[in-house]
Amino acid sequence: MVTLQQVSLRLSKLEISSAELTSAYLERIGEENLDLGAYLTLCPEKALSAARAVDSRRIKGEKLHPLAGIPMAVKDNFCTEGIPTTCASKMLRDFIPPYTATAVKRLEDAGAVLLGKLNLDEFAMGATGEYSAYYPAVNPHDLTRMAGGSSSGSAASVAADQALFSLGSDTGGSVRLPASFCGVVGMKPTYGRISRYGMIAFASSLDTVGIVTHTMWDNAVVLSVLAGADPMDATCSLTPVPDYLASVSSPVKGLRIGIPKEFYTDDLTPNVEKALREVMEVYRSLGAVLCPMSLPVTEDSLAVYHILSSAEAASNLGRYDGVRFGARGAGNTPAEISQNTKDRFLGGEVQARIASGAAYLLEENLDTYYKPALEKQRFIKTAFAEAFQTVDLILAPTATCEAPRTGGFSRSEKRAFDRFTVPASLAGLPSVSIPCKTEDTLPIGFQLVAPAFREDLLYRAGDAYEREVGRHA
Ligand code: GLN
Repeated sequence: MVTLQQVSLRLSKLEISSAELTSAYLERIGEENLDLGAYLTLCPEKALSAARAVDSRRIKGEKLHPLAGIPMAVKDNFCTEGIPTTCASKMLRDFIPPYTATAVKRLEDAGAVLLGKLNLDEFAMGATGEYSAYYPAVNPHDLTRMAGGSSSGSAASVAADQALFSLGSDTGGSVRLPASFCGVVGMKPTYGRISRYGMIAFASSLDTVGIVTHTMWDNAVVLSVLAGADPMDATCSLTPVPDYLASVSSPVKGLRIGIPKEFYTDDLTPNVEKALREVMEVYRSLGAVLCPMSLPVTEDSLAVYHILSSAEAASNLGRYDGVRFGARGAGNTPAEISQNTKDRFLGGEVQARIASGAAYLLEENLDTYYKPALEKQRFIKTAFAEAFQTVDLILAPTATCEAPRTGGFSRSEKRAFDRFTVPASLAGLPSVSIPCKTEDTLPIGFQLVAPAFREDLLYRAGDAYEREVGRHA
């Protein structure tokens, strides 16, 4: 494993050039992608010309950002001008956006080099990576196992050293779950912290841009570039952006860490159970105060999440009707065209969610599904707000298990992988999955959740852990 921080230092000392680095990454991807499936599209010419441009600025002695010359990749649901953007769906197989998403643009402006577009579950709906309409991205630690989803390629690429960092999206856990399965850091910021302009919508009240890296420092440097208001996204917050790098390496002595019993269930695998206990011991030894507590938010969260996100997906994906965007099915009337387009170009999971979402929104069903789900979401928000009266952070497993083998899970079993990640999503809170120090097991992630706009606390606590267990640059 090589970190962004280490490579950035070597670039700044002119020990390597970005062009050499970029070529090496492209070569590795070329050799491994057939097996791993992390990438859907590569843009080698664009990447090499961006890398050369950074190199020539550096040679002239320009002061460059730490991301300058760093090879990165983004989930294929971020619009990139002139580069196919498919959402891993047949529906968008020929879509070439006329503009670039704000998040990607900000990274490119800082000098990061885009290698290509990463695989995902179709339209970011899924938890395993298996719902890509093209081919699945699998787990670099064991190719017979799943990478996790929906940001399967985002986690797999970083874990396999096929990018130094990546962007994913996290609506209900899509960055944290694959990060946990692949052994990398996956950060979902506060709702509204990063502009979503140009990130193709799934469930607009929950969608966030996520960041995948090897370490907390790497993650903080990327968020520093991405966070902040954007006139193109009205949901992007005006809350000032703190200095995230300053909080990395602050001590955690005295920090109160809540341990909610609802997340430590009997069905955790023995390895996950043990890994989490050890994380607690590390924090205790660093002087943090562990606070056993109750946080009654796990019970109905999945159902609430699926009602709300499917309802929003039904509305957002209504635009793929064969008229303005995407592929077009046959038919003599607009209704026929729309129906045939959806049947032919959308996968089963996406179709199922659109159908259930549309049903939840029917007038006669509102009082049974949608309204109670909103009510329950308010309850979850309040429960977190109350918890943060007495603790600074919450510590929980990211998932109940290590990456399972691919195949063999029903649709509802796949949905249940998100049990521990959806509560923070429903509450709009920042949350990160960090690799536990493990021996002889597949990767296991632990999850920290902080109050809104306190990503700095996540970086502080995560970095302290990494330093202590020796997973730091
Ligand atoms: N796995 C969850 C789902 O299928 C979360 C997806 C996401 O966060 N984009 O909805």
